[in-house]
Amino acid sequence: MLKTLRTVVLAGLVSLSPLAAGAASTKKLNVVASFSIIADFARHVGGDRIDLRSLVGANGDPHVYEPRPADVRTIAAADIVLVNGLRFEGFLRRLIEASGTKAPVVELTKGVRPLKSTEQAHDRERSGHHHHHGDYDPHAWQAVPNARIYVKNIVDAFCSIDPPGCTTYETNAKAYDATLSVLDDEIRTTIARIPPHKRVVITAHDAFGYFAHEYGLTFLAPEGLSTDAEAPASDIASLIRQIKRDKVAAVFGENITDPRLVQRIAAETGSKIGGELYSDALSRPDGPAATYVDMMKHNASTIRKAIAPDVP
Ligand SMILES: [Zn+2]
Repeated sequence: MLKTLRTVVLAGLVSLSPLAAGAASTKKLNVVASFSIIADFARHVGGDRIDLRSLVGANGDPHVYEPRPADVRTIAAADIVLVNGLRFEGFLRRLIEASGTKAPVVELTKGVRPLKSTEQAHDRERSGHHHHHGDYDPHAWQAVPNARIYVKNIVDAFCSIDPPGCTTYETNAKAYDATLSVLDDEIRTTIARIPPHKRVVITAHDAFGYFAHEYGLTFLAPEGLSTDAEAPASDIASLIRQIKRDKVAAVFGENITDPRLVQRIAAETGSKIGGELYSDALSRPDGPAATYVDMMKHNASTIRKAIAPDVP
């Protein structure tokens, strides 16, 4: 009985403290995220205590982003800058130098076990000589366990720069982490329903290495890890041969890539276009991937519906 009472009292304190802390500080933490997916993580952790801006917005491609003059001012005014790291944001170094910002720049992939880009690139036969030996695949958010690490890193970063808000950040993150844990289970269940021999799909660029590694699929992509170079014709030809030989179930467009390449591959191989996956950016608020959780659910269910439509 005593234990139950104490639990109730503690729960009451926890739910009150964010309000008290919020009232005590008037100035919000000025947070800049490099792209939309990181901004969504930051919003869940920071809640009302932060003002949040994303440099690359919905449906924007961080690989080839060209900063605007306004971005220099945004970074200059930041209290903290959240980035992916693993050399994902090629535009960032120039921008930070130009802004003269003293704000900490926090790489959220710290503590993630990075996948070597060669793990995927060498999975398939390729005739080109442009493998990025020694580079890591930066798309770590595409596995939910890694997203949970990003969130933990955001809490640590916010707590170090805004100690009075730490309880709020930890409370917010705990609730969000529970959501991510459920999401992770849902994706495993969805993919497990697909017969293993069917789990081979095509996307435009190699953004789904962590998804493949975590949940047990194979993704083939003509464009490689970045979207900044066109796929060589020889690579596309060899991919088309492989699709025909392996009877790949479906090809998918991506929200950040030109649809013509996958349309051509679908036409030449007779495979169907399974829909659009969200890789390196969220959709706009009225789209199917307005949040990270929605994005991951959308991708898993779109793949499942395309390659195993008979499976519930
Ligand atoms: Zn990418």
